[in-house]
Amino acid sequence: MGDHGARSSLYQKLFRRAMTLPLLPEWLAAMTHTEATIFMAHRFSVPELGVSGHDPQNLRQILAQLRRRRYTLLSIEELFRRLREHRPLNRAVAFTIDDGYFDEGQVAGPIFAEFDCPVTVFAVTEFLDGKIWLWWDKIAYIFEQTRRTEISVWLGKEQFRFRLESDAARADCRAFALRCQEAPQADRLACIDELSAAADVELPSRPPERFRPLSWDEARSLERKGMSFGPHTLTHPVLSTTSDEQSEREITGSWQRLSAEVSRPVPIFCYPAGGPTHFGEREIATVGRIGLWGAVSGEPGDIRSSRFQDSTNDWYRMPRHPYQDTLPDVLQCVSGIEKLKAHFRGKPTSQ
Ligand SMILES: [Zn+2]
Repeated sequence: MGDHGARSSLYQKLFRRAMTLPLLPEWLAAMTHTEATIFMAHRFSVPELGVSGHDPQNLRQILAQLRRRRYTLLSIEELFRRLREHRPLNRAVAFTIDDGYFDEGQVAGPIFAEFDCPVTVFAVTEFLDGKIWLWWDKIAYIFEQTRRTEISVWLGKEQFRFRLESDAARADCRAFALRCQEAPQADRLACIDELSAAADVELPSRPPERFRPLSWDEARSLERKGMSFGPHTLTHPVLSTTSDEQSEREITGSWQRLSAEVSRPVPIFCYPAGGPTHFGEREIATVGRIGLWGAVSGEPGDIRSSRFQDSTNDWYRMPRHPYQDTLPDVLQCVSGIEKLKAHFRGKPTSQ
């Protein structure tokens, strides 16, 4: 790293330290008119099963600090309700966790409960039904288990060759999973079947322990401790890669299953992948037609109440910040610094 790099990393360090000063983020939030932030978390770490994810101790520290600094910790449902009723948001922070893995309930659930902080899990309902496991886990499993040192596979018209001599090379499968995410649904499914055959790894019908979902019983018991659940499709396809019929079924079916299983289903949908190309007007129309209040995306941005008029599509593309697992990162989002950074980069965040 050159002199410039060292200097900028020092600034970065000082900046992150400054973010944790008392009242600085709160002052910045007032200056940047930041009213509300939604966080999008994923898996939590379970070292004994080899699950890497968010650190439980960091979550504890972050929630303690948000409480001490008097942020309004509310559920995403309450956030929507306040927007619908034109009520003030007052530095609101809502936490969401995607997919419905067991650790999201077992590890994160008790910590959110300890701080009396509402949290919503967006559940892939056929995953909780025990019918499927999530497709990127299948890819990870195949790469972990295979004894082959060379595999080649087709994704649509593109051929991929993998050389798997080392663990590092095996870990490369994450990049491949991202490529699969952008492929049409049929190509993605065919490719995973082909990969399983080429790698000579048979996929069990139920996910291995570390990839397992919450059960509906666990979900109901977590509901009684303050966690809530919203719909996140039946099988987690990227909706823009599916047919009209499947897109509709994935949205309506997951809402029906969720409503049948939990007592307080959250009427807010969550798009798989959630980038701007992963859903569109077709999905927004379905979400609206079945009476849900709106939907969350995976695009970062803060929420400005003045944008939410009754007729706007903004209800169906509510932005969320990725939950980054450290206090300075969280404080940067809730203080509006992330929004300013995006502004200076010339790419205003969605609101
Ligand atoms: Zn997801």
